[in-house]
Amino acid sequence: MESTTIVETIPIFENNAVAHLLEGMRYRSSSRHINLSDTFEELITPHLQYRIIKIDHINKGSVHLRGGLNLSSPILAKVMKNCEHAVCFIATIGSDVEGEITRLSEENHLSYAYILDTMGSTVIESMVDKFHKSMGKQYGAKGRGVTLRFSPGYCDWHITEQEKLFRALDSNHLDVELTDSCLMRPRKSISGIFGVLPSSINPPALPYNPCSKCKKKNCPSRRN
Ligand code: SF4
Repeated sequence: MESTTIVETIPIFENNAVAHLLEGMRYRSSSRHINLSDTFEELITPHLQYRIIKIDHINKGSVHLRGGLNLSSPILAKVMKNCEHAVCFIATIGSDVEGEITRLSEENHLSYAYILDTMGSTVIESMVDKFHKSMGKQYGAKGRGVTLRFSPGYCDWHITEQEKLFRALDSNHLDVELTDSCLMRPRKSISGIFGVLPSSINPPALPYNPCSKCKKKNCPSRRN
């Protein structure tokens, strides 16, 4: 895929796939069953927007995208080495689930609120994983590959760089906003980037994984 300006908003999976993903997550209260899977399915609106952008150049400390956006992270620069294009994305499951979490908390259903919150985190991660794998498959069919994905806040890539990713996506059709501290609202949203390895590397190189040499053993974003 050579285009540099693809912007698409795609429903990343059908809501009924959630039931499958969360199969068995049914919980008993003292007087009744609460089927959080059904509630959850009704609450989420999963969408993902992405854009493929040409990389102008990469130096030791930063990745320079066409259009003048410079992403500052020596680790990201190493991960993206040899890449010609970058895929920038933002995914969300919408804000209704958060409203329900707040309502449950206010009514003192703290365990249900916690479980719904965990479901939200699981599903948004799963959505982005699915997208990343699907792009890897598409590029793999052309003898290419994709790098691991990274989000602002990973490794040495500062959270404030989130603002650049939002700019890279031109317009944000998903109603995801950035707070003053560069966190996303709705909270169950993920932004990130991965590189597309060129076809001249044959067979495509295995993506560089900075985690293999990293000393942060307890990092929640660690990939083994
Ligand atoms: S473990 Fe991996 S994701 Fe976490 S800081 Fe180290 S290199 Fe980055």
